[in-house]
Amino acid sequence: MWFDGKFVGDAESHMSLLSHSLHYGGAVYEGIRFYEFPHNFWRSVFRLQDHIDRLLASAQAMDMEVPYRAEELCEAVLESVRASNLQAGYIRPAIFRGEGIGLMSPGIVVHAMIAVLELPHGPKSINLATSKMIRLHPHSSDIKAKVAGHYVNSYLAAAAAKKLGADDALLLDYEGNVAETSVANVFFVKGEKIFTPKADNIFPGITRDTILSFGNYEERNVSLEEAKDAEAMFVTGTACEVLPVARLDDKVFDTEHRFVQRMRSYFWGVVDSSIPVSKAKSWLDTLEPSTWASRLMKGEE
Ligand code: PMP
Repeated sequence: MWFDGKFVGDAESHMSLLSHSLHYGGAVYEGIRFYEFPHNFWRSVFRLQDHIDRLLASAQAMDMEVPYRAEELCEAVLESVRASNLQAGYIRPAIFRGEGIGLMSPGIVVHAMIAVLELPHGPKSINLATSKMIRLHPHSSDIKAKVAGHYVNSYLAAAAAKKLGADDALLLDYEGNVAETSVANVFFVKGEKIFTPKADNIFPGITRDTILSFGNYEERNVSLEEAKDAEAMFVTGTACEVLPVARLDDKVFDTEHRFVQRMRSYFWGVVDSSIPVSKAKSWLDTLEPSTWASRLMKGEE
C-alpha cells in the first residue's frame, strides 16, 4: 500500500479512528483499471491522467490541500502497479482528512493512499430495478466530485434493488428523468440511435466519455417511459466496463443488440490499443510486462 508518499506494510497503514473523513464522509477517491493483453504483454493503465485530474478536482471541491502534484500521484500509481505484480486489476487512490472532530475543525492533516486490488471482469449482463431513491440533487452537493459521502445514496439504492432480486438500481434525477445506476452511467439504443442522459444531474464517468468519443450519440433527457421503450440498454463504468442490461423492472432488453456489441468492441479496441483513436493516444500509460508475462516470453512457462 502506498501511503503518504511511501510503501508501507499492514502494520504501518493505520489511520486515526477520529479521522474527519470517516466521521463526515469527506474522503475523495477514484477507481482505475489496468490491463494486460496477450498480444503485447505490456500492462497499461487506462486514462490515468484523467482519473488523477478528477481526484484532485474532487479534493479541491472538498477544500483539501493535497500535498502531491498530479504527476507525483500518476507516478505513485504506476509504482503501485509495478509493486503489485498483478497482470490486471483495479487501483483505488483516495485522499482523506486525518484526526479532527468538529465539522469545520481547522488544520487537519490531508492524507493520500493508493491500493492495487484484483478485480475480475463482472457478469455478462445485469438486471436493474428502478429505485424509489432519487440521485443527489445537483444543488445539494458538488455532484461532479467523487466524494465518499455521495455513496450513501448509491448504497441505499443498490441495497434496496438487491432486496428486490435485481443486481443494481436505476436512479432517476430530481426532475424524474433517468440518471444512472449506483455506480455506472447508462445508455439506450432505439432504432439507429444511441442516447444517454445529459451530464447535468449525473456523475459523468470517464468510461461514458470513452463511449462518447465514438461519436454518433445523443445526450438528452431520458424519461423512464422512453428508457423502457428502448431495444437495448447498457451501463458503463470503470469496474463494470461496458455491460449490457438484460432487464429493467419487467422490461426485457436485447443484450446481443448489434449497437451494444459495437460499443463493447469499440471500448475494448481503445483499451487494448487495437483501434487507433486520435484522442486515445494519451489514454494508455504503459508499464513493462508483469513477471508472469516476462517468464512466458522467455519460454519459462
Ligand atoms: N456514476 C457513478 C455514480 C459512479 O460511481 C461511477 C464510477 N466512478 C460512474 C458513474 C462511472 O464512472 P467511471 O466511468 O469514471 O468509472
